[in-house]
Amino acid sequence: MSSQPSAPKPLSGQSQQPLKHALYANEEQRQQLIAELTELFGERVHTALPVREQHGQGEDSYGCYPPDAVVYLHSTEEVAELMQRCHHYRVPVIPFGAGSSVEGQLLALHGGICIDLSEMDQVLQVNAEDMDCRVQTGVTREALNQELRYQGIFFPIDPGANASIGGMVSTRASGTNAVRYGTMRDNVMGLTVVTPDGRIIKTGGRSRKSSAGYDLTRLYTGSEGTLGVITEVQLKLHPIPTVIKAATCQFEDLASAVDTVISVMQCAIPVARIELLNHLQMQACINYSDLTGFDAKPTLFFEFHGTEASVAEQIDLLQEIAESFGSSQFNWAESTEDRNALWKARHQAYFAALSLLPGASALTTDLCVPISALAEAILFAEKEALMTGLTCPIVGHVGDGNFHMLILFDEQNQEQKTKAKQLSQSLVKKALELEGTCTGEHGIGFGKKEYLLQEHGEGVEVMKGLKAMMDPHCIMNPGKVFD
Ligand SMILES: Cc1cc2nc3c(=O)[nH]c(=O)nc-3n(C[C@H](O)[C@H](O)[C@H](O)COP(=O)(O)OP(=O)(O)OC[C@H]3O[C@@H](n4cnc5c(N)ncnc54)[C@H](O)[C@@H]3O)c2cc1C
Repeated sequence: MSSQPSAPKPLSGQSQQPLKHALYANEEQRQQLIAELTELFGERVHTALPVREQHGQGEDSYGCYPPDAVVYLHSTEEVAELMQRCHHYRVPVIPFGAGSSVEGQLLALHGGICIDLSEMDQVLQVNAEDMDCRVQTGVTREALNQELRYQGIFFPIDPGANASIGGMVSTRASGTNAVRYGTMRDNVMGLTVVTPDGRIIKTGGRSRKSSAGYDLTRLYTGSEGTLGVITEVQLKLHPIPTVIKAATCQFEDLASAVDTVISVMQCAIPVARIELLNHLQMQACINYSDLTGFDAKPTLFFEFHGTEASVAEQIDLLQEIAESFGSSQFNWAESTEDRNALWKARHQAYFAALSLLPGASALTTDLCVPISALAEAILFAEKEALMTGLTCPIVGHVGDGNFHMLILFDEQNQEQKTKAKQLSQSLVKKALELEGTCTGEHGIGFGKKEYLLQEHGEGVEVMKGLKAMMDPHCIMNPGKVFD
């Protein structure tokens, strides 16, 4: 994550021991494998503890499980070579993109080999006239947009962190722009994947639609490293809008802000971004990002894309709706600098929230509900949080019905820990009652496995059947998504 401050990483010696499981290679076989990989990849194989610890966790509070070794790979063929050997020895493999995931996806619970794909960072092909491109998995979204900037096209998915494209495919990421441009599910056209036994397959293609067989692209999208290693991605691109404007408006209460969002969506105003910050999150952002001209009140951040005329029309409509719900404080960020400052503050919201209680652990919720149920879900979440006495700022991509509550608690305080867990459980229960989901964009990883069962029940058995067929030795990122 180049553009974000990193969460504190554990010091050497604080990491957890891998879980021993008879399914996997013993210590001697693992050392034999590492010796073979060192022969193949030389200095790109790392066994030093600090490197392993860096790769044994993401940006979450689930602790650190270091892999046995970290290997930096440069091509699909190298990945295939490594996978064949790991398959032979039955050694777990954890693919690593930029390490920004937040649900414990990167914990090497059973040790194994972490493949760092960040050096597979080539943009292979840009087809400006068809608005698509093919990239290696380690290209970050910021690097891709740098490469595209003079061609009038861009890749819109923006999870805030400077994540890798492969990591974003694997978590089915979205973020602030999804309300207009969709999520990774809508923007991935095809993939190159190395299977757990080392075969190289291609899914999808460059045509905008296809009815050819099962949709493997969709199956790998969101598979969180549990089915294979993605090495190349074919992406949809979009024209850079001629006019981009951002605005904010503040409200006296959370209900009015949420009702404004619901009306904006129901009036089909094609906003590009619509983000909600509750009063606590606003307080955190004002302090952390030196935001001036704002009060610590529920606030909406908007961005509009289009022509001069269409953007003006969207803004008029929005202003009318927001005023009807009592908002009087409008701020327009017309210059690129003002707009960037605003979105930088929004992107730093996670770190701003953590700074409310330095040293606290954080449980992140990722609820997503149908837009008509948004008010009920958010107001329920705020009320429940208030009853726990814990500090719980809220921020959300509310145009999609998706919001995050960051539940801050002291890891050493058992009462707080229990309350945090119970709060998270009750919010998921509410989201499911409202026909929503426990995770709109972060994925299940290690942290939300119990919620997947609540959400999909028997469907999880079908998922397990697919996993058993595609990864019979269960070497791909074991212990994630389900047990
Ligand atoms: C401050 C902050 C804000 C965030 N905001 C958002 C947001 O708004 N929206 C959102 O969707 N997410 C958000 N995230 C979460 C995170 O950025 C996403 O989950 C992102 O998609 C992870 O990408 P990565 O490259 O960092 O992947 P990693 O963390 O490295 O890996 C994530 C998962 O994908 C697997 N994986 C990685 N690369 C491959 C590959 N090539 N083949 C197979 N499996 C692979 C890994 O094994 C792991 O299971 C945020 C994170 C932070 C820290």
